Amino acid sequence: MSATGGMGGDVTAAAALRCYRCKYDLTGLPEPRCPECGLVFERSDPRLARPMPTIALEKARGWRKIPALGRTWITVICFPWIFARQAVKRVSLGHALIFLGICLVLLLAQGPLFHVWPSDLVVIWPLTVLAQIVAQTPVLFVLDWRHTREPSASLRFWLAVSCYGSAILVTEGLCGPPIILVGELLRAVTASATGKPVGSPFRLSTLLDTDRTALVHWAQTVLWLAVLGACLAARHRSAGFSSPAARAMALAGVLLVFLLASVITEWVGGSLVAWL
Ligand SMILES: [Zn+2]
Repeated sequence: MSATGGMGGDVTAAAALRCYRCKYDLTGLPEPRCPECGLVFERSDPRLARPMPTIALEKARGWRKIPALGRTWITVICFPWIFARQAVKRVSLGHALIFLGICLVLLLAQGPLFHVWPSDLVVIWPLTVLAQIVAQTPVLFVLDWRHTREPSASLRFWLAVSCYGSAILVTEGLCGPPIILVGELLRAVTASATGKPVGSPFRLSTLLDTDRTALVHWAQTVLWLAVLGACLAARHRSAGFSSPAARAMALAGVLLVFLLASVITEWVGGSLVAWL
């Protein structure tokens, strides 16, 4: 029933024109001025043809950003595959950085409030997390090599995803951070038969303990890696890979990121422990 008189690329492109300030449909307007918000635009402005944001925090306006922040947090933590689909369509680095900032503030507020963390760790862990984000972004960028023809956009995408992945910081504030140390992992692999306990410079239980805390830490680690894995798989699929291939490459990718995080935690976190 729909009028499909024009199937050409121009019509499709024109149909996608939307005001980037207020989302008003600008298709077919006689003058280049948004009737809703008054924005004067150039018809060739690429921002008009960008897909609309689908991440709750990026879609919401004004005070609605506050509940949208909670919805985004739940989507990242509980439904990473939905977040990945949304992020692949469009993700805003600005919003992602604000999201990271809020998660860090909540993390820092929880430590003193609930007395769950040693005071030095309240400083060390956020710095370690920032180092992990800085280190993992170029690695994810390389793993997503089919999109490296647009290096700037791809790097921004992976930095934004890494920032949204920091959603897990909020639960870490309550349960303690999952400490992954490359030295412990190596010692555990080489000396698993001896049954010797592996010490942590953080003096907290680690992923290699066998108690309930370690289980919680593993759960947090898996939730964090699931966000990155879902985004890797979605990007591979958008680059033309089959779903099984995309999932296999995403799994290999997150294992690499996990190892990288263990190196950063030992190297940066361990250095800060020694220094403070
Ligand atoms: Zn407008």
